[in-house]
Amino acid sequence: MSGGTTARADAPDVLVIGGGLAGLSAAVRCLQEGRTVLLAERRPYLGGRARSFPHPETGDEVDNGQHLMMGCYHASFRFLRTIGADHLVHLQKRLSILFRHPEGAPDRLTASDLPAPFHVLTGLLGLRRLAPGQRAALLRVGPALFGTDPERNERLRRMSVSQWLDRMGQPEENRRFLWDIIAVGALNDSTDRISAALFVKVLRSAFLGSRRNAAMAVPLRGLSAVLSDPAERFITEHGGTVLKGNGAERVEIDGGRVTAVTLQDGRRLTPRHVISAVPYFDLPKVFGDTAQLGVTGLDAFVSSPIVTVHLWFGRHFVDEPFAALIGSPLHWVFNRSVITGRGADGPMYLAIVVSGAHALTEMTNDDIVSLACRELRRFYPGAADAVPEHSLVVKQKRATFSPGPATAYGRPGPRTAVRNLFLAGDWTDTRLPATIEGAVQSGHDAAGLVTG
Ligand SMILES: Cc1cc2nc3c(=O)[nH]c(=O)nc-3n(C[C@H](O)[C@H](O)[C@H](O)COP(=O)(O)OP(=O)(O)OC[C@H]3O[C@@H](n4cnc5c(N)ncnc54)[C@H](O)[C@@H]3O)c2cc1C
Repeated sequence: MSGGTTARADAPDVLVIGGGLAGLSAAVRCLQEGRTVLLAERRPYLGGRARSFPHPETGDEVDNGQHLMMGCYHASFRFLRTIGADHLVHLQKRLSILFRHPEGAPDRLTASDLPAPFHVLTGLLGLRRLAPGQRAALLRVGPALFGTDPERNERLRRMSVSQWLDRMGQPEENRRFLWDIIAVGALNDSTDRISAALFVKVLRSAFLGSRRNAAMAVPLRGLSAVLSDPAERFITEHGGTVLKGNGAERVEIDGGRVTAVTLQDGRRLTPRHVISAVPYFDLPKVFGDTAQLGVTGLDAFVSSPIVTVHLWFGRHFVDEPFAALIGSPLHWVFNRSVITGRGADGPMYLAIVVSGAHALTEMTNDDIVSLACRELRRFYPGAADAVPEHSLVVKQKRATFSPGPATAYGRPGPRTAVRNLFLAGDWTDTRLPATIEGAVQSGHDAAGLVTG
């Protein structure tokens, strides 16, 4: 039985350390199961790596990085429904992605009405920029994708996406026009670094099962308004406590249990259970030697950056809500004016995303803005002479861990060697890349162990 609402404020049933999506998801589930919860976040805001803030010059809600979701984000949609925010995410009726090329007409990948996986396969065969032979080569991927369980395939687990595409006989055009942009976007690093098995897993989650799984989902407001604000409301309305700017400073472990946690302000808590939802690089700062938790191998983790260039123009020259740019150092263009319902007339706010953006993190913000404007002119004839009225570059150097063959599998799970301590976070053993879905699912799973 839980300690119920009578538990003293400093001795909650569950202390959640970290107010990113993993921590918020854990807190929400614990409260749903009737536990008393205190969530402590080190920063003055919630949301972690998925948050937004007001742009001082325009007042627009700016994300730390534009996020895309998918229909196969089942844990995330359940979380959104629970916190009453599912109406703030637009899910396409069917997968539809516009691929823009610097020359010639754009191409569109649209899923058909056929049942999965044929809805996507027929869509792929409809890509007009690929020659018939190149489209036929795409079909070679089908059996490999749908035949084997990637997680049980040792050879695939040792391979990079690049090596796998070689084995699948994918010509250069197929990589450039399709695989690179999808793989780098989904796993956030270059195809020679990321795990083939994990990529195949992602494709299977999207392309198999319900047709809805492959559809793209876009938050209609800033990330905080969609995710962390409603989650915070849910937590406080259900009797939980949220502390911001007051994270865990020191954790005492004795006899295989967490006995106390001291917060930044010196407050000493004695929770019955602790869920750590901090990133892999913060775990040693909170717990010291992680071997005592039974967590080893953190040295193998490396982070990969994402850079988002936010540009405000006085007029529109992009009509679509989002598009992938083929053969560009920029990857995706999101038209925030269209997405947020302000329409495709008048001033325009674009968020341009580059994943695995190692080269861009070395550039100055001015150079990045110049590069973005040059590229927009290459892809959008209407962009000629367009000069942004405002610009903002957000570099997230540790956006996600890079899921290489060494780290994609064998990550620590939610149980630790410390009986009342559980782990959550996008880097834990979710069998997913570092995503909203991985974070939310991990928090839900860790909470399940506390309340189960
Ligand atoms: C620019 C960018 C773009 C992205 N795009 C996508 C996308 O399109 N689709 C997608 O699905 N995913 C995307 N992601 C990934 C997604 O945002 C993350 O996987 C997810 O938000 C991670 O959540 P988390 O809770 O695991 O970790 P975090 O969000 O990092 O949360 C951990 C929290 O712990 C806190 N903390 C650390 N130490 C302490 C302490 N001692 N005490 C208390 N609190 C502490 C941190 O301040 C932080 O708030 C993107 C990420 C970035 C950065």
